[in-house]
Parts: sequence; C-alpha cells; structure tokens
Amino acid sequence: MGLQRTLSIIKPDGVKKGVVGEIVKRFENAGLSVIAMKMKTLSRNEAEGFYAVHRERPFFGELVEFMTSGPVVLMILEGEGAIAKNRELMGATNPADAAPGTIRADFATDIGENTVHGSDAIDTAAFETSWFFAGIEINTVERI
Ligand code: ATP
Ligand code: MG
Repeated sequence: MGLQRTLSIIKPDGVKKGVVGEIVKRFENAGLSVIAMKMKTLSRNEAEGFYAVHRERPFFGELVEFMTSGPVVLMILEGEGAIAKNRELMGATNPADAAPGTIRADFATDIGENTVHGSDAIDTAAFETSWFFAGIEINTVERI
C-alpha cells in the first residue's frame, strides 16, 4: 500500500462541539502524521468546487450550506495506507451505521452533520489535498 497522503476535514459541527483535539489525537495515535493544517471558513466557491462530484446529488445545496456555516479544520494526514486508515477511524457516512468507537459514532449527529471528511481514493486524495494546500504549506514530519 505504501505511504499515502489524504485530506481530512473537521467539519463545522466538529469545531463547534470542541472535539478538534480529540479527533487529531485519534489520527496521531493511529500512526497518521499531520503534515499540513489550517483553520478556515470556506467560501461558497471553495465548498462547491471541493464537492463538485456531488453537484447533481439532491443534498448538494444543504451540504454546501453546512460546510460554509462555520470554520473547519483542514489537514493533510500522511502514513502507511493513510486513505483507508482515515476512513476506518471516521466510520460510515451515516453515524447511525458507524461502528462503535469511530469518530462519527462518537461525535456525529446525522448524515449531513457528520463531523469529518476523508478522501476516499488515491485520485480524490490528490485532488482534495491540492484544492486546499499549496506545496509550500506541506511539511516533512518524521515520527520519533
Ligand atoms: P465525506 O466525503 O464527507 O468524507 P463520505 O465519503 O462518507 O463523506 P459521500 O457519499 O462522499 O460520503 O458524501 C459526502 C457528504 O455529503 C457526506 O459526508 C455527508 O455530509 C453528505 N451527505 C451524503 N449523503 C447525504 C444525504 N443523504 N443527506 C444529506 N447529506 C448527505
Ligand atoms: Mg466522500
């Protein structure tokens, strides 16, 4: 599988619930390193472009509305099999279906306000990391 990078977002509900630290801790404990990080309130353009693949879905408007409703924390996580590992830590999209102990099972309230985002494949991870981070904002982190 090898070393991968993936985009993680702590969505507005996660920031408002005060679980940023708890979520980052779970990533770090699982061996994922934060190699880029910033807090930002997304503009409509930034959110629409990011979720362009979902443009035709019935919940697109609601999704963009929610994602621009408050600050989010954007991160690039790096590690062995980081894409799948992050998705495993997040749990299923609908928190009602998320496995116990996952981020969404523990903190999310509904399918829309589901606390975290994680890239789902190598190509989407490449697009999503470059959508929010310039090369100069990405760091080298060696875990000790
Ligand atoms: P994410 O892309 O946020 O990591 P995901 O890959 O698990 O989540 P997707 O199918 O890519 O899920 O949907 C993107 C996001 O759109 C979901 O995280 C959720 O916030 C929202 N969403 C998905 N399905 C619905 C729905 N039926 N109603 C409302 N919002 C939805
Ligand atoms: Mg997705």
